[in-house]
Amino acid sequence: MGKKEAGGDNVINLAAAVCCVEKCGKKADKLNFCPEHYMWFKEGLISKKGVRPTDFDKKYQAYMMKKAA
Ligand SMILES: [Zn+2]
Repeated sequence: MGKKEAGGDNVINLAAAVCCVEKCGKKADKLNFCPEHYMWFKEGLISKKGVRPTDFDKKYQAYMMKKAA
């Protein structure tokens, strides 16, 4: 007792949010993104609406390099 975790029985139902990135379909965590795609958004790989920019491939590769480093 005493220790209260976020979530639990105090879940706020935000209309079953799903990641807004095309073909993802995972449960959204922040800003309509799943945790992975939220990282993408933070790294500038996708727009707020989950749209990939024209130079997505280049950005994605740079992101993967950074992640692997
Ligand atoms: Zn996602």
